[in-house]
Amino acid sequence: MQQIIVLGAGYGGLMTALQLEEKVRNLKDVNIILVDRNDFHQYIHLSYEIVTGVKKADDITIPMKELLEKRKIQFLQATVEGIDLVHKTVKISGGDLWYTKLVIALGSEPTFFNIKGAENAYCVCSVESAVKIKNKLKELGGPEQNVKVIVGGGGFTGVELAGEIADEMKCCVTIIEGSNMLLPTWGIPEFSSKVTEVLEEMGAKIELNKRVAEIKSDTVVLNDGAQMDCSIFIWTGGVQASRVVFESGLKTGKGKRAVINEYCEALDFPGVYVVGDCALVVDPETKEIMPQCIEIALQQADSVSKSLIADLTDGKREVFIPKFSGLILAVGERYGIGKVAGVKVEGKLALMVKKVIHLHYVYKIAGITEALECGMLKS
Ligand SMILES: Cc1cc2nc3c(=O)[nH]c(=O)nc-3n(C[C@H](O)[C@H](O)[C@H](O)COP(=O)(O)OP(=O)(O)OC[C@H]3O[C@@H](n4cnc5c(N)ncnc54)[C@H](O)[C@@H]3O)c2cc1C
Repeated sequence: MQQIIVLGAGYGGLMTALQLEEKVRNLKDVNIILVDRNDFHQYIHLSYEIVTGVKKADDITIPMKELLEKRKIQFLQATVEGIDLVHKTVKISGGDLWYTKLVIALGSEPTFFNIKGAENAYCVCSVESAVKIKNKLKELGGPEQNVKVIVGGGGFTGVELAGEIADEMKCCVTIIEGSNMLLPTWGIPEFSSKVTEVLEEMGAKIELNKRVAEIKSDTVVLNDGAQMDCSIFIWTGGVQASRVVFESGLKTGKGKRAVINEYCEALDFPGVYVVGDCALVVDPETKEIMPQCIEIALQQADSVSKSLIADLTDGKREVFIPKFSGLILAVGERYGIGKVAGVKVEGKLALMVKKVIHLHYVYKIAGITEALECGMLKS
């Protein structure tokens, strides 16, 4: 009996399970178990739109029951607490599960780099956390109440969030960024300057070369000692792999992500695959670390599902080669910028392309009906 456990029903885990099931449906003695703390899949990259009420939680989640209808996948709603790689068991809330093959796709979680008062920070890392920010903003009021929003971190998530709040709620939003430009890891200074200009036109303030030292309930202290009044502080300045990954004893690298081989297997643990944001994916040619994004998670899911079939049927596995075609950033509801397959897109066109890419993900995850419905009603 082969028992394949997939941890996490985000982009990486869910797609691995779905693609695997299609291929092993007719094989006897193969059991697929998918575990997630939520009984829904979330289109997590749209969670910043929940914050301002542009989207509702229902618009960006889809029940597992619907997704797994007629599938030979057992779904367990439980929290993964740990993995015993030696005894091949997973500890979940409510008991232990044994496996013959394991896929770890638990995504990432915020990291605060020992900033004091982290418990006072909000994060936008899931639908639930976005709803918490929305409720807090509602309670605080708006510009008339002099609400001051501070976003810690001027990367992709921080910029999308700040843009959305500045555009939709007209509140005073300040981004604190440690480096000398917004979006430093994107590595395209032209885009950083343009985004800075657009955000400032929307009324947002940008503090570069500054770091957050302490977060208090109504103040943020910077590394130069300056204090800023703050109604709500939202941290987007750093993520690391799910703690289950680095606490399990797997070899990890940048961002505590699991080091993987050319088949996406964890080093020293054959049959344990790591997919999505918690894997350290490296381009085999350039040796560059690939960004944590949906495109790479889906490519890994495709490759790992094929490798699992090869494992089950004594076939030959294919080497995984990541291909990153680009990202599009939304700054509020009217401006976007990015590159797709090397081509620059900007303005409303960029937002339309972003929407089409999202519909493509919905189609891959949930099928054509959901994608059409989403295109017409929800996006
Ligand atoms: C605000 C925001 C905006 C983004 N924008 C973009 C974008 O525009 N384009 C893009 O390509 N990428 C974007 N990303 C990144 C993208 O969402 C991730 O790269 C992608 O979701 C990674 O997929 P994953 O399967 O690794 O993790 P996830 O999709 O995060 O899935 C992880 C799953 O594991 C579950 N889980 C985690 N821990 C546990 C546990 N202990 N027990 C049980 N279940 C658990 C979670 O509930 C979740 O379902 C964005 C991310 C955020 C937060």
